[in-house]
Amino acid sequence: MWYNEVMSVPVLDIILNISLAGWVVAVASLLMTFLSGIVFWQDSTKHSSKFFFFFGLVVGGWGMAYAFFDGALGTSTIHIAVATLYLVAGLVPLSIFLFLCDFSIKGNPFSFWKLIAVFIPYFGIAGAFMMPGFIVSFKEASGSELGAIVFGKGYSIYILYVLVFLVAGFIVLVKKYRESAGVFKSAIRSILITLFMVSAVATFMMIFSPSFGGFNLFWVEHLSVLVFGFVTSFVLVKYNFWNLKVIAVEFFVSLVALALIIELFLATSPLDLLIKTGIAVFIIFSSSFLVGSVKREIQSGDKIERLLKDLDYLYKQLKVLDRKKSEFLSIASHHLRDPLTAIRGYASMLTEGSFGELPAPLNEAVEKIFESSKRLITMISDFMDISHIESGDMNYKFTDVDMKRLVLDLADEMRFNAEHVHLGFDVTIDDGPSKEESFVTVGDAGKLRQVIANLIDNSIKYTPRGHISVLLHKSPDKEKIIFSISDTGIGMNASMLEKIFVKFSRAGDAGKAYTEGRGLGLYVAKELIKKHEGRIWAESKGEGMGSSFYVEMEAK
Ligand code: ADP
Repeated sequence: MWYNEVMSVPVLDIILNISLAGWVVAVASLLMTFLSGIVFWQDSTKHSSKFFFFFGLVVGGWGMAYAFFDGALGTSTIHIAVATLYLVAGLVPLSIFLFLCDFSIKGNPFSFWKLIAVFIPYFGIAGAFMMPGFIVSFKEASGSELGAIVFGKGYSIYILYVLVFLVAGFIVLVKKYRESAGVFKSAIRSILITLFMVSAVATFMMIFSPSFGGFNLFWVEHLSVLVFGFVTSFVLVKYNFWNLKVIAVEFFVSLVALALIIELFLATSPLDLLIKTGIAVFIIFSSSFLVGSVKREIQSGDKIERLLKDLDYLYKQLKVLDRKKSEFLSIASHHLRDPLTAIRGYASMLTEGSFGELPAPLNEAVEKIFESSKRLITMISDFMDISHIESGDMNYKFTDVDMKRLVLDLADEMRFNAEHVHLGFDVTIDDGPSKEESFVTVGDAGKLRQVIANLIDNSIKYTPRGHISVLLHKSPDKEKIIFSISDTGIGMNASMLEKIFVKFSRAGDAGKAYTEGRGLGLYVAKELIKKHEGRIWAESKGEGMGSSFYVEMEAK
């Protein structure tokens, strides 16, 4: 039985027989295991950290197997050592592949069946190792001839097995590289470069080691895999997938714990031992809490930092998009408005008889063209206003504006529209007993006119029957000029009142009373009045009970 063979070999002999290269490989490999263990302990929930730990374990095992092989040279245990070395080595490409497959920011889990599928080729190759001499065997030294690894017929299968995993890992990583961006992309780039190096060395060694007679240069392969492991750990820590600060705290706490435990062995009396044990337990216990909270703190800080960066990026992108949208809107609107103005102008001249009297049906058609183009122009103006308001480049020319003059002029112009749809229309200017009250405010005359016209226009649109009353008066302290317009129209309930000043919002039955509305006029009015440091608001007792709109401006 093979284990009898192993047991009969003095373990000490093997250990003493290990060469310096053997020791270096074993210690460096165990260091890799330790490093991957820390990474895993630090965040065991991440899938890729599990597979990275698996890789670390395999590398550690591989290093030990190498030391075992090195020490067993010249003893009869060498046959088992060779088989063990290759058996563990076969896990290296597999573990690299698993890690690369699962290496992502999202950490999508590896399904159980996929895992089994990945291991099947390994079980196949492990079975092949059990067949004496099929893949590798060892020819012991005899006389002047040195011992050597003998490569069997199945060796090419082993080469193929290793290459398939390395190439597959490479393909997976290249795919991830193409799909990723930013920090993650540069992390993958570094890993890709080292993976390429490992694959090149491994391939070269596998193919040419039969001609080197076997094992003298085995350490080169170990070295390349270790470089891959250390570089990958460094990359992961550097790009903040796993946090260096947490690892440092954990490392420090482990050192303190180790020192305390060593102290126990140096105790001089039972009492001393008791006290030292108490202190050690207390410190180790409380530092585990400390590590936990540091870990949580740092991790949540990192998460917030990453989120902030993402938000900042998105915010900038949105701003650019928003500016482009406003620019487009402004340009498009300009190009639309000019020809429309011409259409409206000619339609108006036609209905007014500038080109001769039109027959009644034709006149009606031209009037419709006139109305429609007027509506389109208003809509385009609203869009342009919005784009200017939102891009912040609306121009205001502030001068003294006589609100009394402005309201009276507008009322004169619009009275016809109201009376045309059989609405009563009255205008009151409350200019005090002396009739000398001043209604001068500071503002942009054109914009204020636009706001008041919009309110009168709305009242006409949303009042099917009844009358409209316009009132201009001053607050009791004479500090404010208040324009109000009340109608007996469709009115609004409280919830509608709240939203009508929001862009694109229209209340309840507005669509029935006036189908073409877009819900933009009041939004624009509110923004314009805001720039004048004035106030605009609406009141209504409810649906069907009429509405009142108010504009309040500072009196000069
Ligand atoms: P539009 O009239 O194009 O829909 P506005 O921004 O001017 O856009 O008005 C927004 C909404 O406010 C209207 O759709 C309507 O629901 C409501 N509204 C405005 N004025 C009145 C009014 N005088 N009476 C009742 N509802 C009104």
